[in-house]
Amino acid sequence: MRFSFLVKLTTVIILLGLGSWGFLAHKTIHQIAIYSLPKKLQGFFFKNVDYMVYNSVRPDVRRKDDPSEATKHFIDIDAPIFGENSIETMPQTWDDAAKKYTADTLRKYGTVPWEIMKLQAKLTNAFRNKLKDSILFYSADLGHYIADAHVPLHTTINYDGQLTNQRGLHSLWESTVPEMNIDNYNLYQAHKAKYIKNPLAEIWVRIKESKVMLNKVLADEIAASEGFTDDKKFKRSERFGAMRKNYSGEFAKAYAEKLGTTVNERMLEASKTVQFLNFRPLQNHHRLVLN
Ligand SMILES: [Zn+2]
Repeated sequence: MRFSFLVKLTTVIILLGLGSWGFLAHKTIHQIAIYSLPKKLQGFFFKNVDYMVYNSVRPDVRRKDDPSEATKHFIDIDAPIFGENSIETMPQTWDDAAKKYTADTLRKYGTVPWEIMKLQAKLTNAFRNKLKDSILFYSADLGHYIADAHVPLHTTINYDGQLTNQRGLHSLWESTVPEMNIDNYNLYQAHKAKYIKNPLAEIWVRIKESKVMLNKVLADEIAASEGFTDDKKFKRSERFGAMRKNYSGEFAKAYAEKLGTTVNERMLEASKTVQFLNFRPLQNHHRLVLN
């Protein structure tokens, strides 16, 4: 029942075109997270689901006006400055990492794990002070950065495949593929909310998973390219007098096939983490907002 409502709502979002296609995954992840909260805690977010879904993409919109925004969405963990095997050796806390590499270096290569922690603290504070507007504001933002941490191409200096002759891979993986296949995705969250003792450690586990997945994201593009001539693989268009080369629809289909269910699974994993990290303050303080 709840599931079919979710599917319908997703369809409505697609039809109304609230935000660009590229925003579909963010909106869906927020939606799934809210629908999968335990019933007795769900009410507040359920009532505000439209706000949450609409604002799930606000941090991306903010990038246009705020130059400090961009690096909050990723962490290029494989930047040479971090050394070999940095996914294991990077200190997890901001203070320790900044001591090792300087705050400026971290800001250059991305701060998503620490942005999440900052927002988690703000959200908890908003709950404590019964500030409903702030709860919604921080919760929508928090979910966005958590979702971003689940994207493999948000963990690498090769973020658009530009270093491996795969430019355009970023939006192909996180936008085109889910947009094409969302109707066939499983949007049911089977994981029940649980209390996360150490949110920072949890986020680092997700970032490590994203980094591991990166190999497949890149390798599947190469595998899908087999049998594609350059003309078939790309479509060319002119914009502001410059020629642009983008992956063709036909190639996107072949790539999606190679990826199998991985994008769908990652979206569900992201919604699970969004749910878990919202559940923490919600469980502690829900009486305050529900009363
Ligand atoms: Zn983002």
